[in-house]
Amino acid sequence: MLGRGVKLFNLMGFEVRLHSSWLILAALVAWSLAGGFFPSRFPGYPRIDYWWMAIASVAGLLFSIVLHEFAHSYVARRRGIPMHGITLFIFGGIAEMKDEPPSAKAEFLMAIAGPLTSFLIAAVSFATAAGLAAAGLPGIGAVFSYLAWINTILGLFNLVPAFPLDGGRVLRAAIWAIKGDIVSSTRIASWCGSAFGIFLMLMGAWNAFQGNLVGGMWSFLIGMFVRNASEMSYRQVLYRRALEERGLWELLDSEGAEPAIDVEPVKEEEHEHHGV
Ligand SMILES: [Zn+2]
Repeated sequence: MLGRGVKLFNLMGFEVRLHSSWLILAALVAWSLAGGFFPSRFPGYPRIDYWWMAIASVAGLLFSIVLHEFAHSYVARRRGIPMHGITLFIFGGIAEMKDEPPSAKAEFLMAIAGPLTSFLIAAVSFATAAGLAAAGLPGIGAVFSYLAWINTILGLFNLVPAFPLDGGRVLRAAIWAIKGDIVSSTRIASWCGSAFGIFLMLMGAWNAFQGNLVGGMWSFLIGMFVRNASEMSYRQVLYRRALEERGLWELLDSEGAEPAIDVEPVKEEEHEHHGV
């Protein structure tokens, strides 16, 4: 699906890679933070300080996404699902699996680990921000406020039951546990994924027409991506099942299962504090 990107480091045996497209996300986030989020919420600083805060926040965001994907990868490995590694790309992060989860329970635990990690980072960031503000360091505190906010969004957004997002995997695991069939549970979960993708595309188009061009385009692109990913994932499960039934799966050097994907919603902030 993606080029492999540049290797950043190894985290407990997982290769963490940065795809060049991630730089677009980083630039967009930095720009919207320095131009809107920080000046409107923490007014009264020189402009250069907002850029330093923005750059520190982007570094924190990278770290947050890596930890989220690491949680998926770690639980997956503990449950016997071999992992390729972690890649950061334009919409967020991917934990690449080499195979389907062996059971509904394994899938559920692997999927839920990511959002839980994001909520944990949010709680720690929130406490740190409060501590820094109390210690008279509101500037650095602002960075942690942002990290508390973005990790909450990251956890919540990815819990939407839209396969192959985390929430969609939780949904698939639930249906799989009840029906005992991975194919029909994937079909239902991917249908929800496609519907959510179309919803994001429509919302994005609406936002763009309302004048929020960057935020609207971002929603539209994420919607397109989620819709494609959900359809591809379903086809992959069907394809695999067909080969397994013919006893051909083992003969193939498998390309891996559909990856665990996390998307990063980007809000273009109002520039209300920017007089002329
Ligand atoms: Zn995730």
